[in-house]
Amino acid sequence: MKIHEYQGKELLKKFGVVVPRGVFSSSVDDAVKAAESLGGKVWVVKAQIHAGGRGKGGGVKVAKSLDEVRQYAGEILGMQLVTHQTGPTGQKVRRLLIEEGADIKKEYYVAALTDRVTQTVAMMASSEGGMNIEEVAHETPEKILKAFVDPAVGLTDAQATELAKGIGVPEASVGKAVAALKGLYTCYMETDASLAEINPLILEGDGNIKALDAKFNFDSNALYRHPEIVAYRDLDEEDADEVEASKFDLTYISLDGNIGCLVNGAGLAMATMDTIKLFGAEPANFLDVGGGATTEKVTEAFKIMLKNPKVKGILVNIFGGIMRCDTIADGVVAAARETHLTVPLVVRMKGTNEDIGKKILKDSGLPIITANSMAEAATKIVAAVK
Ligand code: GDP
Ligand code: MN
Repeated sequence: MKIHEYQGKELLKKFGVVVPRGVFSSSVDDAVKAAESLGGKVWVVKAQIHAGGRGKGGGVKVAKSLDEVRQYAGEILGMQLVTHQTGPTGQKVRRLLIEEGADIKKEYYVAALTDRVTQTVAMMASSEGGMNIEEVAHETPEKILKAFVDPAVGLTDAQATELAKGIGVPEASVGKAVAALKGLYTCYMETDASLAEINPLILEGDGNIKALDAKFNFDSNALYRHPEIVAYRDLDEEDADEVEASKFDLTYISLDGNIGCLVNGAGLAMATMDTIKLFGAEPANFLDVGGGATTEKVTEAFKIMLKNPKVKGILVNIFGGIMRCDTIADGVVAAARETHLTVPLVVRMKGTNEDIGKKILKDSGLPIITANSMAEAATKIVAAVK
């Protein structure tokens, strides 16, 4: 689950990371009032969407008067903001963060994320913060420093100091940068984040260190123990089909291809997508119906897949373990009838009650294509959509 920058900054602040003073607003008038209440002479008007790259897309503007605050708030609110992370259709801006202007002397990049290879938390830092961190990672990866943190020990002063000095924080501000890094690490751990990124972390003219941006991703399997983070959820920013799927406990991610996949188990779903690609086509979605797929769940899954106009065929790939193939077959037949399925449907099922399941499919009288192996299933669905 992702959250907005202003929410991320609230979290960071709780863990002692210094952030600029700012006020959230969702109308132009409120934006001007926010700037007035903050005082000062320079404000930053920032689009709040769940994607980075807002600066380059025109979603972050520095205003030097209240009139400019009004003008930029008017331009940004309601705009369809396109960034490298939103895809070509962009994301509609419904919310703004109005902040006091910062006196930026230097922009750094810092982040905490889970490193699966070392099974530790990787703290990353770079002297090249700002809007081009992807380019830095690609072209000059040596400019991104990493410290691997043993979760049983935590980020040590020595590690944080080495990072701060390594990215060139001036001696007088190293203590402040260390505090920011440790705050970021603790915030990441305590909130069960899978990514916590501050880009840029800035050095101000007076030597202060501040987080000017905040980007978080949370492990959805841990959300049950963080009601305060669940409260930050903004459904406007999420894919409507994915939200619908989550209501039925289906794990659904829409993709760009034209073959809908319905699979039980995340591993098998990944393997199914790989197999489709291997046979020259592209999956339209990832869909894991999980362990207890009922007829109702399978029907909902079909409906969600078929909402995508790009879907030209469906591949059902089920391994019957605890889940019995006949249950799935009943679900598939009911779903195909209820949705008046017109696209080709290939079903491959293996395991418990496989024979009963196949008989149900056959006896249904529906034009369901069956397959025994994954290769056969992929070959058949790819041929059917061509
Ligand atoms: P992103 O493009 O979505 O990552 O949005 P950011 O919050 O990182 O803002 C983009 C850029 O706007 C930053 O890298 C800064 O250079 C600039 N920016 C953000 N806040 C301020 C500010 O208070 N003052 C000034 N002068 N620039 C700012
Ligand atoms: Mn940023």
